[in-house]
Amino acid sequence: MSYKIVVENCTACGACEFECPNSAISMKGDEFIINADKCTECEGQFDSPQCADVCPMPDTCIPA
Ligand code: SF4
Ligand code: SF4
Repeated sequence: MSYKIVVENCTACGACEFECPNSAISMKGDEFIINADKCTECEGQFDSPQCADVCPMPDTCIPA
């Protein structure tokens, strides 16, 4: 299980990249992407997915 970024909604603000405890978020070209192999949905680390919490855009960091 992992989260994903909906590219159409993402403004590439970069806020999520620094909040991820697993460094699962990175920029590829001009888009931010989540590496599903690294994403734990923040389980055991935080009460909620940190990328979704910090993202200013609705419905952008969502369960894959
Ligand atoms: S849900 Fe958590 S582990 Fe997954 S990408 Fe978002 S911040 Fe990183
Ligand atoms: S916080 Fe949201 S809008 Fe900003 S780069 Fe991440 S997914 Fe895109």
